[in-house]
Amino acid sequence: MTAEPAAPPLLQMALRVEQDIFVIRQRGREVAAVVGLEHQDQVRIATALSEVARDLLWTTGGADVSFHIDAGVDGRFYLRADLAPVTPLPDGRYEPQSGAVSRLVDTLSVSTVEGVTVVRMSRRVPASAPMPTPERLAEFRTELGRTAPASALDELTVQNGQLIAALDEVRSQRDELAVLNDELAETNRGVLALYNQLTEELEETNRGVVALYAELDEKSAQLRAASESKSRFLANVSHELRAPVTAIIGLGRLLSDSSSDPLTAEQARQVGLIRSSAEDLLGLVNELLDLAKAESGRIEPDWADVDLRPLFGQLRGTLRALATRPGVELVVDEPPAPALLRTDEVLLGQVLRNLLHNGLKFTERGQVRLRAQRHGDRWSFEVSDTGPGIAPELHDRIFEEFYQVPGATRVGGTGLGLPYARRLVTLLGGTLELASEPGRGSTFTVSLPTGGA
Ligand code: ADP
Repeated sequence: MTAEPAAPPLLQMALRVEQDIFVIRQRGREVAAVVGLEHQDQVRIATALSEVARDLLWTTGGADVSFHIDAGVDGRFYLRADLAPVTPLPDGRYEPQSGAVSRLVDTLSVSTVEGVTVVRMSRRVPASAPMPTPERLAEFRTELGRTAPASALDELTVQNGQLIAALDEVRSQRDELAVLNDELAETNRGVLALYNQLTEELEETNRGVVALYAELDEKSAQLRAASESKSRFLANVSHELRAPVTAIIGLGRLLSDSSSDPLTAEQARQVGLIRSSAEDLLGLVNELLDLAKAESGRIEPDWADVDLRPLFGQLRGTLRALATRPGVELVVDEPPAPALLRTDEVLLGQVLRNLLHNGLKFTERGQVRLRAQRHGDRWSFEVSDTGPGIAPELHDRIFEEFYQVPGATRVGGTGLGLPYARRLVTLLGGTLELASEPGRGSTFTVSLPTGGA
């Protein structure tokens, strides 16, 4: 991991006798200090050096020791110590007696450089240390050359001092750890209490939500039941009403028939009134029946590919008869080709007729217009008029059954047309929306998927 040494070593020394171990240790620490290693690291590399030196003295009879500075591939600098044994290493290998040695340095290995086998160790120089330029290295060498090796006794004293300092540090770290442990236990207790409190609150909230849901379920079951019984009532009553009303119309027609006994003018007028009232009533009954049928889901669309052009032609024809006001024009635009759509022609016709009929009913001047447009995979049908318009807050209400805008010109009707139209559009897989403002007319838009629901 380190580059080959280019510069001469910072320091060289020989290991031959036991006392040299102390000297190597002390000099190693000095080199480490000079190149800028921190105090802890100085002691670490010095300890590793003395351990390895002791091993080599016993196994190989000594070594030549040298110190170097290398640039690492990581861009950082390393202090390297090479110990070249004076006789070959047994099996060419080196195994430190103490396993802790390799943990004291960054690398510890046996390398062969230019045929010479060395035990090599290195320790990284902190980034904060001065750059080891060639000038700095020269200074290091001079500095190391100046200091003379101390005696073994001196070194022993220094080592003892270091040992005591290390022990002190271990003790203070242990005390710090105990304090930290206490703090951690305290924090844990707090967190646990908070957790318990939150769990309780959550359970409380959950119980509330569950109760709320139960209440909602009950309410929606009640609503469903009410709506079903309303539909059943409407269907039954309408059905029962239809027969007598049809009978009244038939009888009225018979009375005014030319083959029947002649009526006085007044009688004829009154029979005419009975007939037209009965016809209105039949209209209402039929609408009620339609709506009840749609609500109970008994209407099944008859899906088919529908050409809009004949349908529009038919609407144009039948509604022209209703556009009786002189100042109101009915316009049914030709749909753009290809005017094909998969839907139920009868139901779609009913919806559009209903909307156009409303437009004609409520518009006193201007225009009622039907326009179809294709947008991607949808068709939109716009029925717009220049009538009185509808206030935004009533846009939802007019789709409610029997709702009619209060104060609007009384033009007849039941308030059932729009809810029915919306039901049908939903059955066809589409939507029915309204854009309107008082005084600006209304636009009802039916949007249907091209391919059916
Ligand atoms: P009906 O027309 O039988 O009264 P609808 O359900 O079709 O019932 O319409 C409900 C109400 O919405 C109408 O009574 C009317 O007040 C209002 N409305 C519907 N269409 C229009 C329109 N084109 N312009 C203004 N008001 C409308």
